[in-house]
Amino acid sequence: MRSTILKISIVLLVIIFLPIGFFLVNEFTKLSQDEQMVEDVFNEQLESILYSVNQYSENIISYWVSNLDLPIACGDDAMKSVANNILVNNPTIESIQFLEVKSKTILATYGDNPVNNYTKVLEDEKKLEALVDFLSKDYQKIETQSFGKITGIYFLMKNQAENVLCFINVRSEEFIQQALGPQIQQVSQDLFFISVRDTISGNIVFETKGNAEDNLKLLEVPMWYFPSYKIGIRLLSSTIEELVAKRGQKGRSILWFLVLTVIIGAAFVIWNIRKEIRLAELKSGFVSNVSHEIRTPLALISMYAESLKFKRVKPEKEEKYMDTIYSESLKLSEIVNRVLNFSKIENNKKVYEIKPHLASSLIVSTIESYMPHIEENKVELTYDLPKDIYIDADKVAVSEALINLFDNAIKYGRPEGKKINVRCYAEKENVFVEVEDNGIGISGKDKKYIFDKFYRVSKGDRANKVKGSGLGLNIVKQIMKNHHGSVEVKSKLGEGSIFRLRFVRTKNNKND
Ligand code: ADP
Repeated sequence: MRSTILKISIVLLVIIFLPIGFFLVNEFTKLSQDEQMVEDVFNEQLESILYSVNQYSENIISYWVSNLDLPIACGDDAMKSVANNILVNNPTIESIQFLEVKSKTILATYGDNPVNNYTKVLEDEKKLEALVDFLSKDYQKIETQSFGKITGIYFLMKNQAENVLCFINVRSEEFIQQALGPQIQQVSQDLFFISVRDTISGNIVFETKGNAEDNLKLLEVPMWYFPSYKIGIRLLSSTIEELVAKRGQKGRSILWFLVLTVIIGAAFVIWNIRKEIRLAELKSGFVSNVSHEIRTPLALISMYAESLKFKRVKPEKEEKYMDTIYSESLKLSEIVNRVLNFSKIENNKKVYEIKPHLASSLIVSTIESYMPHIEENKVELTYDLPKDIYIDADKVAVSEALINLFDNAIKYGRPEGKKINVRCYAEKENVFVEVEDNGIGISGKDKKYIFDKFYRVSKGDRANKVKGSGLGLNIVKQIMKNHHGSVEVKSKLGEGSIFRLRFVRTKNNKND
């Protein structure tokens, strides 16, 4: 049986479970790739939001640059009015200064509170040279440098004869809060939490509305024109990792569920095949057992009948021959009846007539009808049966069950000194009938199977020699099931067995 199951399992594995396995592994890998892709796409989206904020600040600054870069002297009234106009409209600008690069002199200063940040820029010859170089290539580069709370934004003017540097001092935090704040709030769409952090002090200088949990920032980039500040963004409710993880979790749960289903399915298929193979083996054993059981009586009948027919028997032996023919034909019909009865029970065709019976009289009448066998096999039979216990039972079926147990007690009893004890007792709403023998007993392993149809114990000397079909105990089990009761066994190898039938006690003790 093992090799058949092994073969079937391998075939199943190759044709069904292997492709399913490949499919599941592939799905798992795909799921992780999908997660990575979603995360990448999402990060790109976040980056573009931050980019738009930086772009917005560039637009503002470019607007200042285009307004200030005029082909007029920096101290002129016209320039003054342009500069003042920018200062009025952009209160976060501290001052605007114009400087001659070559002579490093101030040409004009606008604003209430001029600072001298430009001196540090003028000292950086290389940077200035680069700006000049860029301008010669018609590219006006806007530079930026942080001076504590102030950010200096500067550029070389295109429309001046000499190299003139325009220097705009911006109060960084105020610019971020007042000029960029509304725009940041708008792009956050109440979906994201965006904040701007001063990288030097670590302080948050601006944050959008919403619950600022202390989760890690999902994405943080430097601000183009305010180098000591960084702008960060994350989802308001949960981070993208959490979202992607949640989504992945769901997909993974489904896949695990599939894996589990496949494993359970495989186990179920193999279990069923095992069961069917075992049943097929038991059935074939049954056919050969029944054939064996039939063969001996048939041989005896035909041999004795032939002797009688051809008058080869001495007259004094005729009686004995006929007795043998009679008893063997009874054995034959017993076997046939048992098989027919079994098939009737199996197909639910047996009709039970269940009514209250006095347990003791039902058992005693069964024992009486079985007495010839008891005597023939020299069994010492004792019983202890209270006279007031009633059970709901079909008399014929219960007798049959008891006879099967008596038969077995004799068949599997010891060669000499066979003993059977029958007891009956009530417990709450149940009545128990026990048939105890001092026979060969049953091993723990076999106990699990002896009530299965066709099952016979194949190990042990006695078990092999005794004839049987493997139906008796299954019939007992079916009969008890139809009585809403059960059968169980207690047994020890070499010591004997106790078969216990459980019946339903009749509610109001009625006579049978
Ligand atoms: P059969 O007796 O025809 O083989 P049963 O269904 O009556 O079939 O019993 C199944 C198996 O249980 C038997 O083959 C036997 O090995 C074991 N068995 C049944 N009753 C007893 C008993 N009283 N003592 C020992 N073994 C028993």
